[in-house]
Amino acid sequence: MEMKDRIQEKFQTLFGEAGDLYASAGRINLIGEHTDYNGGYVFPGAIDCGIIAAVKPNGTAKVKAFSLDYDEYVEFGLKEEDKPEQQWARYIFGVCRETVKRGGKVEGFNTVFAGDVPLGAGLSSSAALESTFAFALNDIFDNHIDKFDLAKIGQSTEHNYCGVKCGIMDQFASVFGKKGSLIRLNCKTLEYKYFPFNPEGYRVVLIDSCVKHELASSAYNKRRASCENAAAAIRKNHPEVEFLSDAKRVWLDEVRSEIPEEDFLRAEYVIGEVQRVLDVCDALERGDYETVGEMMYQTHFGLSKLYEVSCEELDFLNKLARKMDVTGSRVMGGGFGGCTINLVKDELYDTFVNAAVEQFTAKFGHAPKVYPVVISDGARKL
Ligand code: ADP
Ligand code: MG
Repeated sequence: MEMKDRIQEKFQTLFGEAGDLYASAGRINLIGEHTDYNGGYVFPGAIDCGIIAAVKPNGTAKVKAFSLDYDEYVEFGLKEEDKPEQQWARYIFGVCRETVKRGGKVEGFNTVFAGDVPLGAGLSSSAALESTFAFALNDIFDNHIDKFDLAKIGQSTEHNYCGVKCGIMDQFASVFGKKGSLIRLNCKTLEYKYFPFNPEGYRVVLIDSCVKHELASSAYNKRRASCENAAAAIRKNHPEVEFLSDAKRVWLDEVRSEIPEEDFLRAEYVIGEVQRVLDVCDALERGDYETVGEMMYQTHFGLSKLYEVSCEELDFLNKLARKMDVTGSRVMGGGFGGCTINLVKDELYDTFVNAAVEQFTAKFGHAPKVYPVVISDGARKL
């Protein structure tokens, strides 16, 4: 049975009527990594896996929620002190609270929901969950909160109710996602623009290394500090540089001898990456997917050799892709584990995926996971 039918069936059983169906999506980021906190561009899109929820006001002051995937029922009130124990329910509770904080009306409702975004794989299942409910509550209670604020409701939910200090990209992509389009978001000004992504003859596939190396958070803070240090040095000559992404490459060269070599390399990556996002956007407008792929390889090189956030498993997958003439491949996300995102010609797809699974398993002793994705719509009513 289809996911939405299973959801409606359970809703009917629990609540004796049908709910209204809402959905949102996980996301990929084609290019633009470690650029967000440097005021640069990211380039995400929503994907064809997500969360679907049946929702209906229940005339009480309580939310009655059933998670099909956890097979668990939770009831909670809408006041700050009513925060539920279950992690999954906290996302819904947080969205309710953040909606109220923005002046929206939220009353009790019934819901049954399920999803097919792999959890914790870097596809942002949590953003899919948040934006499904942010969108649904806005519609049901007629709040007229604008789309950007719906994304911020999800982001604040992570900050204030789930202990994750994330940026805006995941929720932005999940709310704004559009079939056949990627969205370039300027993380400094929050301006955004859609670009066509219809890779006919190619497929996008993620290969999940299923490893998460522990250095991630301390390394992340060090990378941020390096970027700030490089930006501060450049700013002395060029006061208009607020973030590192405002700097031209030659301005970085001017300060090379004044900053640690490590900071120079980190900054070299970031400035290059901002330009690569722009180059990829131009290439997409021409339908030039070969250039897109080449930029993905350049990003991987930068993340691995200049920014040093890759790892053996991801470099292995990237190298294999290159060897097999895959069009594009790079580590996606913060690094030190997670997935590579690959742009693969149709005719090479099965050969590549099979080889990746086989050779990775032989080398590392466990199988990677494979997630084919198609760029699809974000938050919506079904
Ligand atoms: P991700 O990188 O996928 O966003 P997170 O740890 O941020 O990983 O979010 C995963 C959490 O989101 C899960 O532990 C769960 O609480 C919630 N979640 C995601 N998808 C579902 C689902 N289908 N059903 C219930 N909860 C979900
Ligand atoms: Mg998440």
